[in-house]
Amino acid sequence: MVAIRLLPENDTTNGWSAVLPPRASKPRLAETVVADWAIIGAGYAGLAAARRLAEHRPGDRIVILEAGTAGEGAQGRNAGFAIDLPHNVTSSMAELDETARYKRLYRAAIDHLDGVIKAHDIDCDWAQDGRYHAAVSEGAVQSVLKPLVAELDRSAEDHRWVDRQTLADEIGTDYYAAAVFTPGGYLVNPAALSRGLADSLPDNVTLYETTPVVRFEPGAPSRLVTPEGEVKARQVVIAVNGFADRFGYFRHRLLSFAAHASLTRPLTDAEIAKLQGKARWGLTPANAFAGITMRRTADNRILVRQNVSFRPGLRADDAERSRVAVDHKRLFDQRFPGLSDVTIAHTWTGYICLSRNGAPGFGEVAPGVWASVCQNAVGMTKGTIGGLLLADKAVGVKNPLIADIEAVSGPAWIPPRPALDIGVRTRFAFELWRSRAEA
Ligand SMILES: Cc1cc2nc3c(=O)[nH]c(=O)nc-3n(C[C@H](O)[C@H](O)[C@H](O)COP(=O)(O)OP(=O)(O)OC[C@H]3O[C@@H](n4cnc5c(N)ncnc54)[C@H](O)[C@@H]3O)c2cc1C
Repeated sequence: MVAIRLLPENDTTNGWSAVLPPRASKPRLAETVVADWAIIGAGYAGLAAARRLAEHRPGDRIVILEAGTAGEGAQGRNAGFAIDLPHNVTSSMAELDETARYKRLYRAAIDHLDGVIKAHDIDCDWAQDGRYHAAVSEGAVQSVLKPLVAELDRSAEDHRWVDRQTLADEIGTDYYAAAVFTPGGYLVNPAALSRGLADSLPDNVTLYETTPVVRFEPGAPSRLVTPEGEVKARQVVIAVNGFADRFGYFRHRLLSFAAHASLTRPLTDAEIAKLQGKARWGLTPANAFAGITMRRTADNRILVRQNVSFRPGLRADDAERSRVAVDHKRLFDQRFPGLSDVTIAHTWTGYICLSRNGAPGFGEVAPGVWASVCQNAVGMTKGTIGGLLLADKAVGVKNPLIADIEAVSGPAWIPPRPALDIGVRTRFAFELWRSRAEA
């Protein structure tokens, strides 16, 4: 029996859910339940696995145990990019092969999300806005954007080179030297999407919210103990991303980072007129360490995402968020000097799980225990497809994409703490310094 000593906390700072109407959460588990499948975690991976399992096994009883509420974990705190292409490319044959696999996986995830959103009329500002991948410095134009264009050309991917002036016309800032626009990705309010996915589950799936698994005993059946109840299930799906090592899986393989994002207040009509450009857009940085992710949302706010720090304890405090909010305002002002009256309305923290080699954790980790975790900060698509394929594999349904995800899976070993902390923090500091021209 494993005691789960670190549970997620909801600090109630999430800006994406703050701009939505309140939602009634599902009841917590307060009895003993016998199920065919127990899924831990109601993020993208857990909800996709539940939906696909329900399709394959309409007569099975499927339960989801979620420590918090839908849309309040990382699934609802992210920047809302459902990406169809990996952010950056390199040119070795192995890496090109990997890129092709990821493209197939991401696109299948987008198709799934698109289908569910349309079938259930989920109101979440989901739209194919595409994405600008932008560089501040001439160095990053040459070292990142030009090779990206070469690969997009080679693989006949639709894209457009965007120079400084064109980008200024399209998004309202001349801060960037250039960008590459790719049209395939979607933007969304991730909290609204997560709520919609959780509230439209098939009839044979029961979601229990505010129901953390506090003890776990794998077996036949496995036992999952919660504060007021218990589930006995033949099959278990671990879909808790960076918390998976607390269940005893992928130990010394997962790196948890705090990532922060802010939303401004909505722009006024006068500010919108000053900003000009497209009504909605999303921009990712050529350099993920120093650069910032930005969006203009459907309700005319600007999102800023920056400030990632190593947090193996998965906790951050208000003092840190206050510092980050000041920093996000500075980054916003640098890019939009004409909008300096625009204030930051929400700043929040979420947690991302990375592996040293960028690989997710996927597959059967013990008899009757399955996992789709470690989504490396692109969990909207990677987690969704991980959950779907895990369900296919667990019931023996053949899907050619299983070979793709298995080929890119397997988080690499990382050294134990405190050597790990020193190594990660040193690498981060070095990368930030090296890429300071992209800040
Ligand atoms: C600021 C920020 C920006 C990001 N931007 C993007 C982006 O633009 N696009 C993108 O694709 N990704 C982005 N990400 C990453 C993305 O949010 C994650 O990769 C994704 O949420 C992972 O999905 P998941 O389903 O695997 O896990 P999660 O969404 O983390 O869901 C796991 C769930 O498990 C629950 N859980 C954990 N422990 C227990 C327990 N003991 N019992 C019960 N439940 C438990 C948690 O409460 C949580 O709800 C961003 C993340 C952050 C923080």
